[in-house]
This record gives sequence, C-alpha cells and structure tokens, in this order.
Amino acid sequence: MSSNQAYSFFESVEKSFDKAAQFTKWDKGVLEQIKACNSIYSMRFPVKLDDGSIEVIEAYRVQHSQHKSPCKGGIRFSDEVNQDEVMALASLMTYKCAIVNVPFGGGKGGIKINPRNYSVYELEKITRRYTSELVKKNFIGPGIDVPAPDYGTGEREMAWIVDTYTSLKPGEIDGAGCVTGKPITQGGVRGRKEATGLGVFFGIREVCNMEDVMQKQGLSVGVVAKTVVVQGLGNVGYHTAKFFREAGAKVVALAEYEGAIYNADGLNEEEVFQHRKATGSILNFPGATNLAKNTDALELECDILIPAALENVINGENAPRVKAKIIGEAANGPCTPEADEVFAKKGILCVPDMYLNAGGVTVSYFEWLKNLSHVRYGRMEKRFTENMNTHILGQIEELSGKKVSDQERKFIMHGPEEQDLVHSGLEETMITATREIMDIWKKDPSIPDMRTAAYISAINKVATSYAELGIFP
Ligand code: GLU
Repeated sequence: MSSNQAYSFFESVEKSFDKAAQFTKWDKGVLEQIKACNSIYSMRFPVKLDDGSIEVIEAYRVQHSQHKSPCKGGIRFSDEVNQDEVMALASLMTYKCAIVNVPFGGGKGGIKINPRNYSVYELEKITRRYTSELVKKNFIGPGIDVPAPDYGTGEREMAWIVDTYTSLKPGEIDGAGCVTGKPITQGGVRGRKEATGLGVFFGIREVCNMEDVMQKQGLSVGVVAKTVVVQGLGNVGYHTAKFFREAGAKVVALAEYEGAIYNADGLNEEEVFQHRKATGSILNFPGATNLAKNTDALELECDILIPAALENVINGENAPRVKAKIIGEAANGPCTPEADEVFAKKGILCVPDMYLNAGGVTVSYFEWLKNLSHVRYGRMEKRFTENMNTHILGQIEELSGKKVSDQERKFIMHGPEEQDLVHSGLEETMITATREIMDIWKKDPSIPDMRTAAYISAINKVATSYAELGIFP
C-alpha cells in the first residue's frame, strides 16, 4: 500500500467487488463468503546466510477460495510483501480464474525479500524451506494448492519447489502438478513463459477489433500502427511489448524502475533488454530520449498504456495526467479505484487486470493438465493430423490439377506442436472472456466501467458454483 492511500490493497479489491455486487442479485451472505479469504498462513522461518549469520524470513500463503480445487496463484519475492497484499492478490486470482473458466480457487504466496540481496544458494535455501513449510501444513499439492511464478520468481524457483515437494512425497504419481511455470525438463509446458504477455496482447487485440468500442475511443480498428507504452520490462512487460511490436504496433516508450526511454519511431524490446543487461540501466539507449522518472512514462501521449509491474502505480493523484486512450492492466492492481473514477470521467477505457493478465494462469492450467495426464500436448495427434492433411492436399491437387507453393504446403501439412496448442487454447480463452465481459457491459449502460463488468462476470460464476455445491440452499 502506498503511504498516502486511505485504504489497503485488499480493501481496494473489496471496494471494486462491492461496486460490482450491486449489479447482481446474490444474497448478501453469498457475497460475503466470496469476498472472504478462507485460509491465511503467515510463517516465519530461519535461514543461514552465506556469511554464517541467521536471518528470520517473513512469508505467506493465502488461499482465498476453495469453491474449486486446487487453489492457484503465484509466489512473489519482494520487499513490499505483506499479508494484506497477498490477500488482495489471492482474491484477484479467484476472480481471474472464474472469468476465464479455469477451474481453480484463488491463492497467492509471498516471501518478504528482495531477491537481488541474496546469493543463488541463499535463494534456493529460502525457496526450499518455504516449500517444506507449505508441505507441513498441507498448503501445497496438485489437488490442494498449486503455486506458480509471480513478481521476482521464475522457472528456477519453480524447479526448486517441485524438487522439494516430490522428495518429501515420494511415489506421489501426480507430484509434478504441485507447481506450474516449471522448466520444460521438469514438467513445464511450452508456451508458459510468454503466456501472460501473449494473453494481454490477445485481450487488447480483441478490444481493438471491436468497431463500436474503437469508435468511442476515437481510434481506428486493429492494433496496427497503434502507439504503445509499457511500464516494466520483466517477463510480462517484455513479452507484451514483443507481441504488440510483432503485430505492427509501435512501442514508443519502455519504463523500468531506474527510469524510462522514449522513441517516437518505436523501440525493440529485445535490444533494450540487452542494453539494460550490458549497462545495468534502461537509460541512454541509442536513439531514445531519457525520461527522468519511470512514472513519467505513464503520462505520455499514446493509444495504449500497459502498466506491467506492480500495484497502485496509477492513482487519484496521477490519473488526471494520463493521456492514453486505452489502459491494459498487465500487472495486478496497477490502477486504484480513484483512478477508475478519473478514467470513467475522461473516457479512458481501462481493461482490467483480473482478466487481462489471466494468460499466465490459463497456461498454468494447461501445464497442470499435462502433469496429470503425463503426456505432452500434440503427441497423440500431430502425426495423424499431418498424414491426414497430406492426404487431403494430395486429393485437392489431383482433382484440381494445380499445385500449391512449398510455403503453403508446409503451412497446411503442419500438425500441432505443444506450443501451437497452448497458444491456440490461450487465444480462444482470452477472446471468449473479452466478449463475455463486453456483453455484460453493453447490456447494462449503467455499469460504470469494464472492471465492474469483469467483477460481475466473476461474481456470477463463483456464486453459481457455490450455489451448485449446495452450501447456500
Ligand atoms: N502469478 C500469475 C498471476 O498473477 C500466474 C499465476 C498462476 O499461474 O497460477 O496470475
């Protein structure tokens, strides 16, 4: 929570929830149950550092809802971690999974450390100890609660988690499904790494393909030539920028915590990433102008603004200066409820986090299914499809007396690889969710913004599931 804010992150999620709940007909008790965090595990454990000293680590795992099992959500390593934040993020996971029809309850974990201040060996010890604490309390398992990467964590940490879990649970046949976002060699799925960024792109692309919406925003249809600003060049920001650039949009500014850079002709995220790796900073990138503060990027003139770092970066104070026509919330909770009010007045369309960044958990779902089925996607059908396509094409060529080009032949024959199936499943998920939310919004013009429409979708799905469980007769 930023110090000048009147309420916490979790309270701001509750505020958005209440705003949407008014548009539903569910019993007050059902709504209260949906909002509540069911289980909160706050832990402290010691770790011996490389210099021999002992440090007590503060960590959390919150299971917001078990209306579906397992609970699902990432683990973040950050100095800012606190119980309220983890509760807010766990709640968002419940709503996110419901909206994109991923059958999980919401969860989230956090370890209050800045990973830059620890050696790799220390990080491994912390991660493994955290995992064994979760095992002890039955807070992890393929049918209980399945963590994943989040801010400050990635494949490496997930590999440590699965290794710790499976060594403590020998013989558990589905053990690999205790965590997602793993390296491919450890049971990961192809396409997970870029999933959140690709999902953000698919979601915004779908919005940009809606003629009526674009007309309202004063924009042309499609993403080609749209100007995009991305705040945060971590895994999510990097891939979001990549997919927009590849689709013909212009990424005019990129921001990281040391500052921001601008180039009206467009930036290449990979070149910027390499520059940052080599120099330690995003600043002074050849051909680009430096912006003094990273937050300056949020106020630039552009069509699409993508906050892809942390929560509360656009609030009541700076929202009036935001000039973007569309905001795509790639991060969790980047805009506060006050910012939403400003956007509604200014006519800025804010595409909300809890569904827009659901690509990560959607592909986590595919990874978990792969782990439970013990077979790689595409293994059963790839060759069959290729043989069938060869046959069909052969028939067409024979009957028409014409031959297709080599490039066309390669494209038509191609049977699906794991990554093709994962990307296509993600595309379908994001397009469907975007349309469902927009339909809710269009049917009732008194719904103030897209976030409220997304919450309505989430509340209806979770409440229906509770009702079907028979908890609320
Ligand atoms: N940390 C990501 C999120 O906030 C992914 C969670 C997951 O894959 O379970 O959605």
